[in-house]
Amino acid sequence: MNQQHSENALSRAMYWPRVRDLPRCEACTDSMVAPEASALRADGKVSYLWSCDSCGQSLVTSAAEAAQ
Ligand SMILES: [Zn+2]
Repeated sequence: MNQQHSENALSRAMYWPRVRDLPRCEACTDSMVAPEASALRADGKVSYLWSCDSCGQSLVTSAAEAAQ
């Protein structure tokens, strides 16, 4: 229905540096679809906050920022 919105989400997904290396929930091993939030840290790494859709488990990962 809202094609513009989905295209925007798709192009945004390409900017996630680790989008092909999605973490799995430690509680139920379900794969995380997309980070809920991200934060650039002072040391140049990016922290991602993940939330499991299945059980609500929260997970924080970090990745070196390579795309910029
Ligand atoms: Zn889970």
